[in-house]
Amino acid sequence: MAGISTLHLNPNPSLKFNHQIHTSLNQKNQLFSILPSPRKIKRRNGGNLGICAVCATHSFDVVVVGAGIIGLSIARDLLLRSNLSVAVVDAAVPCSGATGAGQGYLWMVHKTPGTEVWDLAMRSRKLWELLADNVQDQGFDPLETLGWKKTGSLLIGRAEAELNQLKRRVQELSKAGVRAEYLSHDDLANKEPELGINQQSGAAFLPDDCQLDAYRTMAFIEKGNRLFKTLGRYAEFYRDPAVHFIRSNGKGKIDGIKTQKNTLYGRKATIIAAGCWTGSLMDKLLQDSHIVLHVPIKPRKGFLLNLENFDNLDIRHGLMEAGYVDHQKSVISESEGVDLDRNEALSVSMTVTRDACGNLLIGSSRQFAGFNTELDTFIVDRIWERAQQFFPALKEFSVKNLSEQMNVRIGLRPYMPDGKPVIGPAPGIPNLFLASGHEGGGLSMALGTAEMVTDMVLDNPLQLDCKPFSVEGRCC
Ligand SMILES: Cc1cc2nc3c(=O)[nH]c(=O)nc-3n(C[C@H](O)[C@H](O)[C@H](O)COP(=O)(O)OP(=O)(O)OC[C@H]3O[C@@H](n4cnc5c(N)ncnc54)[C@H](O)[C@@H]3O)c2cc1C
Repeated sequence: MAGISTLHLNPNPSLKFNHQIHTSLNQKNQLFSILPSPRKIKRRNGGNLGICAVCATHSFDVVVVGAGIIGLSIARDLLLRSNLSVAVVDAAVPCSGATGAGQGYLWMVHKTPGTEVWDLAMRSRKLWELLADNVQDQGFDPLETLGWKKTGSLLIGRAEAELNQLKRRVQELSKAGVRAEYLSHDDLANKEPELGINQQSGAAFLPDDCQLDAYRTMAFIEKGNRLFKTLGRYAEFYRDPAVHFIRSNGKGKIDGIKTQKNTLYGRKATIIAAGCWTGSLMDKLLQDSHIVLHVPIKPRKGFLLNLENFDNLDIRHGLMEAGYVDHQKSVISESEGVDLDRNEALSVSMTVTRDACGNLLIGSSRQFAGFNTELDTFIVDRIWERAQQFFPALKEFSVKNLSEQMNVRIGLRPYMPDGKPVIGPAPGIPNLFLASGHEGGGLSMALGTAEMVTDMVLDNPLQLDCKPFSVEGRCC
């Protein structure tokens, strides 16, 4: 659309990464104090793994490929709950993938009790809450540290059929042990006075739902992981894409990863957590072997509008339209003859939050457009129009006259056709694990995923049934 070329585009939000680390986390001790006592952490590998990251061979217990929220959370959990040494490899930097576009809600309101994803999200939510409590107990502010806010969430319906669904949803959520309340029109209008709604409107309200800030949280996790560098247990290899598996015997066992610049042995495990690139990366890593493992993860492009210093809308909770539930679930089966890379069908549904810096975040779109991350102003306009339908106050503004204040975050969600992430050992390939395919819920499912992977690597009993997420039977 003409006129919005002056938008402050931010398709690679890592540009802001250093700044955000600086402003949100500047006290090293803050992180150390919530880690186990240093005495309990054994020194490994001579203690200087993080120093040389150029053209060399390094040995670790575990190599994690991908430094998004999933990869960094796995590294964190391994470092905290074992004595293993861990390397993290990324083709770029943290937050350059889908994680950097994430809106940050960890809500249960749009998830369905009784599903496997529900169980994983509930476990993760508990772990996120424990982490936020831990930060608080150490005398630090979870808002400053993680962008943590308990805003509650509202799933809003505007038609009779939707309201009936919302009432059923509230019953199911309550039965599943989550505090949930159905709000009729008047109650909803009291909770969110700026919503433009008619009498045919209502909402499911979850007062305990929380959100975080992806940048602050990633900076927190990264900084915590780096404290293990001096103990010889952690190293990062950023801007260094994985290119080959290391396989030292003929039995298919994976011994690590060759990157563009380094050879990284992973004695115990190699974990692929490369988001939407996991499928294409696995094809590449296995191309010279006889092993066939097709991981059907596809990129699902999404836009999020970030309005800085925008005080013209007063929102008091996290908001999402009821249509989001189907918008997220809608799956297109390749077996139906649809080429997902070519199918650009666009869907847009309203999600609005205010982040820890006070920015208004408005989402979001979904579309299959391959690995393309270009800005499309048509989509920006559709998201804005959708938000205007819910908030009449926004009708006074156009995308054009907000161009100075608006960043557009663009990310590729890792989409699995059956709607569930892939977490677990790769069948027939000893020492190799996958952890990817969280689509629009990677932030909310990260800590449960990390716990599951760590327990698998350590051969611990699992907190959840991992079968629904298994690689076997879903990737062939
Ligand atoms: C607009 C939008 C809003 C969202 N909002 C939310 C939300 O509110 N709540 C929520 O829970 N989720 C949300 N999500 C989804 C969430 O962001 C993702 O599910 C999550 O970030 C996926 O994390 P990941 O670590 O698997 O992938 P990524 O963050 O994409 O990380 C994968 C990493 O792998 C690296 N990589 C790729 N190839 C290689 C290679 N060859 N070698 C080494 N590294 C490689 C990449 O550089 C990248 O850093 C949203 C997503 C979008 C797009």
